[in-house]
Amino acid sequence: MIVLDKVNKWYGAGSSRYHALVDVSERVEKNEVVVVCGPSGSGKSTLIRTLNRLEEIDGGSIAIDGRDIHAKGTDVNALRAGIGFVFQHFNLFPHLTVLENCTLAPVNLKRATRKEAQEYAMQLLEQVGLAHKVDAYPSALSGGQQQRVAIARALAMRPPIMLFDEPTSALDPEMVGEVLGVMRSLAEQGMTMVCVTHEMGFAREVADRIIFMSEGRILERATPEAFFTDPQTPRAQQFLADRR
Ligand code: ATP
Ligand code: MG
Repeated sequence: MIVLDKVNKWYGAGSSRYHALVDVSERVEKNEVVVVCGPSGSGKSTLIRTLNRLEEIDGGSIAIDGRDIHAKGTDVNALRAGIGFVFQHFNLFPHLTVLENCTLAPVNLKRATRKEAQEYAMQLLEQVGLAHKVDAYPSALSGGQQQRVAIARALAMRPPIMLFDEPTSALDPEMVGEVLGVMRSLAEQGMTMVCVTHEMGFAREVADRIIFMSEGRILERATPEAFFTDPQTPRAQQFLADRR
């Protein structure tokens, strides 16, 4: 379970200080799939990046399974090893094959022997439909395939939580579906997921809950049904109207 309590975050200093997260409190239950949406610049990326300390916070607290992850002395590498993060740009290691991309971290961090890591990576690559590409290099793959490798690579660490920051927004439209399909099957397997996405069809069908952000605040939290049929604030109404 992830619990955010009055999280505040500023960027910059002095007069150019920007209040990027304003008193954000939220909880994400185990096995829950939460979609975060909202206009550009509303703080969605900042929010999920605080969950594995890609961003530091300036106030409040974030606890994962009861542990304050921004506390002094937190082992950031161990924290990140337990949280899969998938970015808009896939950030695969270009000089490594698909299989090597998926085994590097588990082997280096001694989570598995090379053989175990390879077997598990094969299983994951099969799951994402890329068993036939294990020996390919990222540059030889389509964007959708690269993103599916990035998901498999994150899963290779067996993280109990997966975070996604607009995983499909850099993809050609015809490749969006294959990545959303992988995310959907993860959700069906009970993965705890926080997804920033503008894919409203995915949000409607897969999310347990929607969080709508605006200007660093969570303005609405609702079931997809409630959010899409009856948004409560003019901002959310406008946001949805712009997407119809
Ligand atoms: P988008 O939909 O465009 O990805 P977002 O909701 O993810 O937007 P964030 O990237 O979290 O928004 O940014 C929130 C605000 O913080 C924006 O106004 C942005 O300009 C600002 N910001 C983000 N990163 C930094 C940074 N490193 N330094 C200064 N300001 C930043
Ligand atoms: Mg963003």
